[in-house]
Amino acid sequence: MEAFQNGETVNQTEYIKMKIKDLKAINFPPGLLLRIETDEGIYGYSEAFCPKEHVLSLKPLIVGQDPTNVENVMRRIRHKGGFKPWGAGASGIEVALWDIASKVAGLPVYKLLGGKVRDAVRVYCDCGAGIEGDGQDYSIEGYVRNVERKKKQREHFSILKFDIGFHGSEGGLLQSAPNRVYEADRDYPTQGHMTEEGIDYQIKVVAALKECLGTEIGLALDCGPGLSLPSATILAKKLEQFNLAWAEDMLTGDMNPYVDADSYFALSSTTTTPTLTGEQIYLRQGFRDLVEKRAVDFVSPDICDAGGMMETKWIGEFADLFGILIAPHNYGHAIEFMANVHVGAVLPRNFVAFEFHRSDEPWWMDIIKGVEKPLIKDGHVTVPDTPGLGFELDERAVTKHLPEGERFFE
Ligand SMILES: [Mg+2]
Repeated sequence: MEAFQNGETVNQTEYIKMKIKDLKAINFPPGLLLRIETDEGIYGYSEAFCPKEHVLSLKPLIVGQDPTNVENVMRRIRHKGGFKPWGAGASGIEVALWDIASKVAGLPVYKLLGGKVRDAVRVYCDCGAGIEGDGQDYSIEGYVRNVERKKKQREHFSILKFDIGFHGSEGGLLQSAPNRVYEADRDYPTQGHMTEEGIDYQIKVVAALKECLGTEIGLALDCGPGLSLPSATILAKKLEQFNLAWAEDMLTGDMNPYVDADSYFALSSTTTTPTLTGEQIYLRQGFRDLVEKRAVDFVSPDICDAGGMMETKWIGEFADLFGILIAPHNYGHAIEFMANVHVGAVLPRNFVAFEFHRSDEPWWMDIIKGVEKPLIKDGHVTVPDTPGLGFELDERAVTKHLPEGERFFE
């Protein structure tokens, strides 16, 4: 048997007693890039969106362990994680372990996760709100400018997602003008009850977006978190006319350290607008109530927060058993993007698309080499057949985007 190392094949029996030598993290805004180093010189890469100290606190628990026994390593650190951002350390490590294990096997990660069921994986584009110059804009004209621009992108996304509700900077659309919400604050996440003006304005924004997109491109909305249950119920009902791909985090979600499955069940039961949540949730157990109660139509685990690649596959299969769809959240750079391609390749038929958040950073693909570029064509990514996550990290490109004072994995 032969394994893959730095572009060359080597004798695999050398890796039987392989050990983790080091775990390194570097700031790469808005998060961290991670590298697990082994005594055989094989590296595994990943990302995390949490304080560097949190990731590095896990290092003593994994050094000396065999990285190819992924679950055995995870058993040592999984209990150190929690809802976003505290699951990021353990989740990021899990991704890097699969990168190493599959490089050792000389196979792409998807083979170790059970094998692919699709050759190309659908990806959707997060668009934020409107644009005014380089800034965020919640005017209808701003949204129209942005949607016109996004629908012409060379990636030809089949689903675009826009922010309404409280999602976005400075309290989002609902707090960007007076009289759209009765009571809320600018702390995030928030929850509030909309005024009639707030409801009407959001419907006007969505109508303008739909007019630009027609039926050719699907529209998803990130709505919070979150609205009061009565507000979410009213809004979801009024949004039915637009046949959305989904409405995200209408009640709770991003950064909420809990799940409110009963409220989501009440909401989802009253509307045909598909509901989605889950980007902050840690582990399959965190999704259990939402799935078993059929409280939402979609779950959206983030590989780098939910516990990793195998964990996300497990969540997707569990959801499929209950007729629930999956559209993984992804805020990451090119490494988490590639992790999503491998997981997207192995998920069952309930997989719809994974998220892409970097469309306004034209250099996003530069940090990885050895992949066919552009990565996104016709709204899909071809699943790579090269070992590991399928790329080599480009030190020069990463260094170019490091914050001042940060060095490449020293
Ligand atoms: Mg979201």
